[in-house]
Amino acid sequence: MVAPMRIVIPEDTGRIEVVSAIAGSDTRLRIPGDQKAPDHRQWFCFEAHDCAGGEQVFLLENAGDCTYADAFEGYRACASYDPEGADWFRVPTELDGDALRIIHTPQSEVVRYAYFAPHPAARRAALIDAARSSATASVRTLGTGTRGGSVDLLSFGSTDEGARKLWFIAQQHPGETMAGWFAEGLIWRLLDSDDAVAQNLLAHARVHVVCAMNPDGAAMGNHRTNAAGVDLNRCWWEADSATSPEVLAVRTAMYEEGVDFLLDVHGDEHVPHVFVAGAEGNPGFDDRIEALEEEFSNAMVTATCDFQTEEGYPKDAPGKGDLRTAGNYAGEAFGCLSLTLEMPFKDHNGAPDEERGWSPERSMNLAGAALEAVASVLDVLRD
Ligand SMILES: [Zn+2]
Repeated sequence: MVAPMRIVIPEDTGRIEVVSAIAGSDTRLRIPGDQKAPDHRQWFCFEAHDCAGGEQVFLLENAGDCTYADAFEGYRACASYDPEGADWFRVPTELDGDALRIIHTPQSEVVRYAYFAPHPAARRAALIDAARSSATASVRTLGTGTRGGSVDLLSFGSTDEGARKLWFIAQQHPGETMAGWFAEGLIWRLLDSDDAVAQNLLAHARVHVVCAMNPDGAAMGNHRTNAAGVDLNRCWWEADSATSPEVLAVRTAMYEEGVDFLLDVHGDEHVPHVFVAGAEGNPGFDDRIEALEEEFSNAMVTATCDFQTEEGYPKDAPGKGDLRTAGNYAGEAFGCLSLTLEMPFKDHNGAPDEERGWSPERSMNLAGAALEAVASVLDVLRD
Protein backbone atom coordinates (compact mmCIF):
# COMPACT_ATOMS: atom_id res chain seq x y z
CA MET A 1 0.00 0.00 0.00
CA VAL A 2 1.25 3.48 -0.90
CA ALA A 3 1.70 5.78 2.10
CA PRO A 4 -0.33 8.99 1.88
CA MET A 5 1.53 12.18 1.09
CA ARG A 6 2.53 14.31 4.07
CA ILE A 7 3.14 18.07 4.28
CA VAL A 8 6.13 19.01 6.44
CA ILE A 9 6.96 22.58 7.42
CA PRO A 10 10.75 23.12 7.38
CA GLU A 11 12.11 24.52 10.62
CA ASP A 12 14.12 27.23 8.84
CA THR A 13 12.00 29.53 6.61
CA GLY A 14 9.02 27.12 6.52
CA ARG A 15 5.55 28.65 6.34
CA ILE A 16 2.19 27.07 5.41
CA GLU A 17 -1.07 25.96 7.01
CA VAL A 18 -2.47 22.58 6.05
CA VAL A 19 -6.25 22.51 5.52
CA SER A 20 -6.39 18.95 4.20
CA ALA A 21 -3.97 16.42 2.71
CA ILE A 22 -5.94 13.39 1.56
CA ALA A 23 -4.66 10.78 -0.88
CA GLY A 24 -6.33 11.10 -4.27
CA SER A 25 -7.51 14.71 -3.93
CA ASP A 26 -5.99 18.19 -4.11
CA THR A 27 -3.87 19.12 -1.10
CA ARG A 28 -5.51 22.21 0.37
CA LEU A 29 -3.22 24.77 2.00
CA ARG A 30 -3.31 28.36 3.25
CA ILE A 31 -0.59 31.03 3.30
CA PRO A 32 -0.29 32.40 6.85
CA GLY A 33 0.52 36.05 7.53
CA ASP A 34 3.80 37.15 9.10
CA GLN A 35 4.04 36.22 12.76
CA LYS A 36 3.25 39.42 14.75
CA ALA A 37 2.19 41.23 11.54
CA PRO A 38 -0.48 39.09 9.86
CA ASP A 39 -1.40 41.82 7.37
CA HIS A 40 1.83 40.91 5.57
CA ARG A 41 1.03 37.66 3.81
CA GLN A 42 2.85 36.30 0.74
CA TRP A 43 5.67 33.89 1.64
CA PHE A 44 5.10 30.16 1.61
CA CYS A 45 7.55 27.29 1.98
CA PHE A 46 6.67 23.64 2.59
CA GLU A 47 7.78 20.11 1.83
CA ALA A 48 5.74 17.27 0.40
CA HIS A 49 6.92 13.86 1.59
CA ASP A 50 6.08 10.41 0.19
CA CYS A 51 4.75 12.03 -2.94
CA ALA A 52 6.41 10.21 -5.86
CA GLY A 53 4.20 8.30 -8.25
CA GLY A 54 1.88 10.74 -9.91
CA GLU A 55 0.68 14.27 -10.39
CA GLN A 56 0.16 16.32 -7.24
CA VAL A 57 -2.03 19.39 -6.99
CA PHE A 58 -1.50 21.91 -4.20
CA LEU A 59 -4.23 24.48 -3.80
CA LEU A 60 -3.17 27.61 -1.90
CA GLU A 61 -6.71 28.64 -1.07
CA ASN A 62 -6.18 32.18 0.17
CA ALA A 63 -3.69 33.52 -2.38
CA GLY A 64 -6.29 36.18 -3.23
CA ASP A 65 -5.98 37.56 0.32
CA CYS A 66 -2.23 38.02 0.09
CA THR A 67 -0.58 41.44 0.30
CA TYR A 68 0.48 41.34 -3.36
CA ALA A 69 -2.30 39.03 -4.57
CA ASP A 70 -2.24 40.44 -8.11
CA ALA A 71 1.48 39.63 -8.31
CA PHE A 72 0.54 35.92 -8.55
CA GLU A 73 -0.59 36.69 -12.10
CA GLY A 74 2.15 35.33 -14.36
CA TYR A 75 3.95 33.73 -11.41
CA ARG A 76 5.19 30.11 -11.21
CA ALA A 77 6.10 28.44 -7.92
CA CYS A 78 9.65 27.26 -7.19
CA ALA A 79 10.51 23.64 -6.37
CA SER A 80 13.60 21.62 -5.49
CA TYR A 81 14.66 18.07 -4.63
CA ASP A 82 17.71 19.44 -2.81
CA PRO A 83 16.35 22.32 -0.76
CA GLU A 84 19.67 23.29 0.88
CA GLY A 85 21.18 23.64 -2.59
CA ALA A 86 20.90 26.26 -5.31
CA ASP A 87 19.16 23.98 -7.82
CA TRP A 88 15.52 25.11 -8.02
CA PHE A 89 13.11 24.97 -10.92
CA ARG A 90 9.65 26.32 -11.70
CA VAL A 91 6.48 24.25 -11.75
CA PRO A 92 3.17 24.94 -13.52
CA THR A 93 1.10 27.33 -11.43
CA GLU A 94 -2.24 28.94 -12.19
CA LEU A 95 -4.52 31.45 -10.52
CA ASP A 96 -8.06 30.17 -10.04
CA GLY A 97 -10.14 32.92 -8.46
CA ASP A 98 -8.67 33.43 -5.02
CA ALA A 99 -6.64 30.23 -5.12
CA LEU A 100 -3.20 29.50 -6.51
CA ARG A 101 -2.93 26.01 -7.96
CA ILE A 102 0.51 24.35 -8.14
CA ILE A 103 0.58 21.26 -10.35
CA HIS A 104 3.60 18.99 -10.31
CA THR A 105 4.57 15.38 -10.92
CA PRO A 106 7.48 14.86 -8.49
CA GLN A 107 10.49 12.80 -9.51
CA SER A 108 11.47 12.23 -5.88
CA GLU A 109 9.90 11.21 -2.57
CA VAL A 110 10.53 14.65 -1.08
CA VAL A 111 10.00 18.01 -2.78
CA ARG A 112 10.24 21.46 -1.30
CA TYR A 113 8.03 24.20 -2.73
CA ALA A 114 8.45 27.89 -1.98
CA TYR A 115 7.54 31.37 -3.18
CA PHE A 116 11.22 31.70 -4.08
CA ALA A 117 14.23 29.49 -3.31
CA PRO A 118 14.94 30.10 0.40
CA HIS A 119 18.48 31.05 1.29
CA PRO A 120 19.13 28.54 4.11
CA ALA A 121 20.60 29.63 7.44
CA ALA A 122 23.11 26.77 7.12
CA ARG A 123 24.49 28.29 3.89
CA ARG A 124 24.76 31.67 5.56
CA ALA A 125 26.63 30.10 8.49
CA ALA A 126 29.03 28.42 6.05
CA LEU A 127 29.69 31.76 4.34
CA ILE A 128 30.41 33.47 7.63
CA ASP A 129 32.75 30.61 8.62
CA ALA A 130 34.57 30.93 5.30
CA ALA A 131 35.01 34.66 5.86
CA ARG A 132 36.15 34.09 9.43
CA SER A 133 38.84 31.62 8.41
CA SER A 134 40.03 33.77 5.51
CA ALA A 135 43.07 35.97 6.00
CA THR A 136 41.47 38.77 4.00
CA ALA A 137 38.07 39.17 5.66
CA SER A 138 36.83 40.09 9.10
CA VAL A 139 33.54 39.23 10.75
CA ARG A 140 31.88 41.27 13.46
CA THR A 141 28.50 40.65 15.09
CA LEU A 142 26.78 44.03 15.20
CA GLY A 143 23.77 42.98 17.24
CA THR A 144 20.82 40.63 17.30
CA GLY A 145 17.15 40.69 16.50
CA THR A 146 14.64 40.47 19.36
CA ARG A 147 14.46 36.68 18.85
CA GLY A 148 18.27 36.36 18.97
CA GLY A 149 19.23 36.09 15.29
CA SER A 150 22.73 37.43 14.76
CA VAL A 151 23.29 40.45 12.48
CA ASP A 152 26.83 39.99 11.18
CA LEU A 153 29.04 42.37 9.26
CA LEU A 154 31.59 40.90 6.87
CA SER A 155 34.32 43.34 5.87
CA PHE A 156 36.90 43.00 3.12
CA GLY A 157 39.72 44.97 1.53
CA SER A 158 41.72 48.09 2.18
CA THR A 159 41.85 49.53 5.68
CA ASP A 160 43.46 52.76 4.47
CA GLU A 161 41.67 55.80 5.77
CA GLY A 162 41.17 57.08 2.23
CA ALA A 163 39.67 53.83 0.95
CA ARG A 164 36.13 54.13 -0.37
CA LYS A 165 33.56 52.57 1.97
CA LEU A 166 31.17 50.36 0.03
CA TRP A 167 28.13 48.78 1.71
CA PHE A 168 25.90 45.96 0.55
CA ILE A 169 22.96 44.96 2.74
CA ALA A 170 20.48 42.18 2.00
CA GLN A 171 17.21 40.65 3.10
CA GLN A 172 15.72 43.39 5.24
CA HIS A 173 12.54 41.79 3.90
CA PRO A 174 13.14 38.15 4.82
CA GLY A 175 10.90 36.63 2.12
CA GLU A 176 13.01 38.33 -0.56
CA THR A 177 15.43 35.44 -0.44
CA MET A 178 17.02 36.25 -3.82
CA ALA A 179 18.84 38.94 -1.81
CA GLY A 180 20.41 36.22 0.35
CA TRP A 181 21.63 34.44 -2.79
CA PHE A 182 22.98 37.74 -4.13
CA ALA A 183 24.95 38.21 -0.90
CA GLU A 184 26.32 34.67 -1.18
CA GLY A 185 27.52 35.34 -4.73
CA LEU A 186 29.06 38.61 -3.61
CA ILE A 187 30.94 37.09 -0.69
CA TRP A 188 32.42 34.21 -2.72
CA ARG A 189 33.70 36.75 -5.27
CA LEU A 190 35.24 38.88 -2.53
CA LEU A 191 36.92 35.82 -0.95
CA ASP A 192 38.40 34.62 -4.24
CA SER A 193 42.06 35.67 -4.39
CA ASP A 194 42.11 34.87 -8.14
CA ASP A 195 39.20 37.17 -8.94
CA ALA A 196 40.76 40.18 -10.69
CA VAL A 197 37.67 42.42 -10.48
CA ALA A 198 37.21 41.81 -6.78
CA GLN A 199 40.91 42.06 -5.91
CA ASN A 200 41.32 45.30 -7.85
CA LEU A 201 38.36 46.78 -6.05
CA LEU A 202 39.55 45.60 -2.63
CA ALA A 203 42.94 47.24 -3.18
CA HIS A 204 41.20 50.64 -3.14
CA ALA A 205 38.03 50.08 -1.19
CA ARG A 206 36.66 48.65 2.04
CA VAL A 207 33.63 46.49 1.29
CA HIS A 208 31.08 45.84 4.05
CA VAL A 209 28.41 43.18 3.59
CA VAL A 210 25.41 42.39 5.81
CA CYS A 211 24.05 39.25 4.18
CA ALA A 212 21.08 38.91 6.52
CA MET A 213 19.60 42.12 7.91
CA ASN A 214 16.63 40.22 9.32
CA PRO A 215 17.72 36.72 10.44
CA ASP A 216 14.76 36.35 12.84
CA GLY A 217 12.19 37.08 10.16
CA ALA A 218 13.89 34.67 7.76
CA ALA A 219 13.96 31.82 10.28
CA MET A 220 10.29 32.42 11.14
CA GLY A 221 9.19 32.31 7.51
CA ASN A 222 8.01 35.93 7.53
CA HIS A 223 7.69 37.71 4.24
CA ARG A 224 8.20 41.32 5.23
CA THR A 225 8.84 41.83 8.96
CA ASN A 226 11.08 40.93 11.88
CA ALA A 227 10.20 39.05 15.09
CA ALA A 228 8.63 42.22 16.51
CA GLY A 229 6.38 42.58 13.46
CA VAL A 230 8.30 45.58 12.07
CA ASP A 231 9.15 46.31 8.43
CA LEU A 232 12.85 47.15 8.79
CA ASN A 233 12.95 49.13 5.58
CA ARG A 234 10.52 51.66 7.07
CA CYS A 235 12.44 52.51 10.22
CA TRP A 236 15.88 53.82 9.26
CA TRP A 237 14.93 57.34 10.28
CA GLU A 238 13.78 56.28 13.75
CA ALA A 239 15.31 52.89 14.49
CA ASP A 240 14.97 51.73 18.09
CA SER A 241 16.43 48.97 20.23
CA ALA A 242 13.06 47.49 21.20
CA THR A 243 11.50 46.89 17.78
CA SER A 244 14.20 47.40 15.13
CA PRO A 245 17.55 46.59 16.80
CA GLU A 246 18.83 45.15 13.48
CA VAL A 247 18.63 48.55 11.77
CA LEU A 248 19.97 50.41 14.79
CA ALA A 249 23.03 48.13 14.88
CA VAL A 250 23.80 48.48 11.16
CA ARG A 251 23.13 52.21 11.12
CA THR A 252 25.54 52.69 14.05
CA ALA A 253 28.22 50.70 12.21
CA MET A 254 27.68 52.86 9.12
CA TYR A 255 28.40 56.01 11.10
CA GLU A 256 31.52 54.37 12.58
CA GLU A 257 32.89 53.15 9.25
CA GLY A 258 31.57 55.78 6.83
CA VAL A 259 29.54 55.20 3.67
CA ASP A 260 30.48 56.17 0.10
CA PHE A 261 28.11 53.71 -1.58
CA LEU A 262 25.15 51.60 -0.51
CA LEU A 263 23.36 48.88 -2.42
CA ASP A 264 20.30 47.65 -0.48
CA VAL A 265 19.26 44.36 -2.08
CA HIS A 266 15.60 43.32 -2.41
CA GLY A 267 13.09 41.34 -4.46
CA ASP A 268 9.93 42.66 -6.08
CA GLU A 269 6.74 40.63 -6.32
CA HIS A 270 5.23 42.40 -9.34
CA VAL A 271 7.89 43.63 -11.75
CA PRO A 272 9.40 40.94 -14.02
CA HIS A 273 12.71 42.79 -14.38
CA VAL A 274 15.87 43.59 -12.44
CA PHE A 275 16.21 47.30 -11.73
CA VAL A 276 17.42 49.88 -9.22
CA ALA A 277 15.52 52.63 -7.43
CA GLY A 278 17.47 55.79 -6.68
CA ALA A 279 17.30 58.68 -4.26
CA GLU A 280 15.74 61.27 -6.58
CA GLY A 281 13.16 62.16 -3.91
CA ASN A 282 15.77 63.07 -1.29
CA PRO A 283 16.10 66.71 -0.19
CA GLY A 284 19.86 66.44 -0.80
CA PHE A 285 19.63 64.85 -4.26
CA ASP A 286 21.71 66.83 -6.73
CA ASP A 287 23.34 66.68 -10.17
CA ARG A 288 26.36 64.80 -8.82
CA ILE A 289 24.24 61.97 -7.34
CA GLU A 290 22.07 61.89 -10.44
CA ALA A 291 25.15 61.47 -12.64
CA LEU A 292 26.49 58.70 -10.36
CA GLU A 293 23.17 56.83 -10.49
CA GLU A 294 23.19 56.99 -14.26
CA GLU A 295 26.81 55.90 -14.52
CA PHE A 296 26.28 52.94 -12.16
CA SER A 297 23.14 51.81 -14.04
CA ASN A 298 24.88 52.05 -17.40
CA ALA A 299 27.75 49.97 -16.05
CA MET A 300 25.27 47.33 -14.87
CA VAL A 301 23.70 47.20 -18.34
CA THR A 302 27.18 46.71 -19.82
CA ALA A 303 28.06 44.01 -17.27
CA THR A 304 24.99 41.79 -17.64
CA CYS A 305 21.89 41.12 -19.74
CA ASP A 306 20.14 40.51 -16.40
CA PHE A 307 19.72 44.26 -15.75
CA GLN A 308 17.83 47.06 -17.47
CA THR A 309 16.77 50.67 -16.93
CA GLU A 310 13.41 50.91 -18.73
CA GLU A 311 11.14 49.17 -16.22
CA GLY A 312 10.99 49.84 -12.48
CA TYR A 313 9.27 51.97 -9.86
CA PRO A 314 7.78 55.38 -10.66
CA LYS A 315 10.22 58.15 -9.72
CA ASP A 316 9.68 60.02 -6.43
CA ALA A 317 8.80 63.70 -6.78
CA PRO A 318 11.55 66.09 -5.59
CA GLY A 319 11.65 66.17 -1.79
CA LYS A 320 9.06 63.39 -1.47
CA GLY A 321 11.42 60.43 -0.95
CA ASP A 322 10.68 58.17 2.03
CA LEU A 323 13.62 58.71 4.37
CA ARG A 324 12.60 55.69 6.44
CA THR A 325 14.07 53.39 3.77
CA ALA A 326 17.72 52.37 3.90
CA GLY A 327 18.44 53.60 0.39
CA ASN A 328 17.06 57.08 0.90
CA TYR A 329 18.28 57.36 4.48
CA ALA A 330 21.91 56.52 3.68
CA GLY A 331 21.88 58.68 0.55
CA GLU A 332 20.72 61.66 2.57
CA ALA A 333 22.79 61.04 5.71
CA PHE A 334 26.08 60.37 3.89
CA GLY A 335 25.57 62.35 0.67
CA CYS A 336 26.52 59.27 -1.31
CA LEU A 337 25.36 57.07 -4.17
CA SER A 338 22.70 54.91 -2.52
CA LEU A 339 20.47 52.52 -4.44
CA THR A 340 17.83 49.88 -3.84
CA LEU A 341 18.33 46.86 -6.11
CA GLU A 342 15.21 44.86 -6.98
CA MET A 343 15.23 41.34 -8.42
CA PRO A 344 12.05 39.59 -9.55
CA PHE A 345 10.11 36.76 -7.93
CA LYS A 346 9.01 35.90 -11.48
CA ASP A 347 11.66 36.23 -14.20
CA HIS A 348 13.81 38.92 -15.76
CA ASN A 349 11.79 39.31 -18.95
CA GLY A 350 14.74 40.81 -20.81
CA ALA A 351 16.42 37.37 -20.72
CA PRO A 352 13.79 34.82 -19.68
CA ASP A 353 14.61 31.31 -18.44
CA GLU A 354 11.70 28.95 -19.12
CA GLU A 355 12.93 26.29 -16.71
CA ARG A 356 14.04 28.34 -13.71
CA GLY A 357 12.77 31.90 -14.09
CA TRP A 358 14.78 34.23 -11.87
CA SER A 359 16.93 31.87 -9.79
CA PRO A 360 19.54 31.55 -7.06
CA GLU A 361 22.27 31.20 -9.69
CA ARG A 362 21.28 34.39 -11.49
CA SER A 363 21.00 36.25 -8.18
CA MET A 364 24.56 35.16 -7.29
CA ASN A 365 25.87 36.12 -10.73
CA LEU A 366 24.21 39.53 -10.53
CA ALA A 367 26.44 40.31 -7.55
CA GLY A 368 29.46 40.00 -9.85
CA ALA A 369 27.93 42.55 -12.20
CA ALA A 370 27.35 44.89 -9.26
CA LEU A 371 31.03 44.57 -8.29
CA GLU A 372 32.05 45.51 -11.84
CA ALA A 373 29.63 48.44 -11.86
CA VAL A 374 30.77 49.87 -8.54
CA ALA A 375 34.41 49.43 -9.59
CA SER A 376 33.70 51.57 -12.65
CA VAL A 377 32.47 54.50 -10.52
CA LEU A 378 34.89 54.07 -7.63
CA ASP A 379 37.07 57.07 -8.51
CA VAL A 380 34.13 59.46 -8.69
CA LEU A 381 32.14 58.29 -5.66
CA ARG A 382 33.50 61.23 -3.68
CA ASP A 383 33.92 64.83 -4.80
ZN1 LIG B 1 11.98 44.50 -0.14
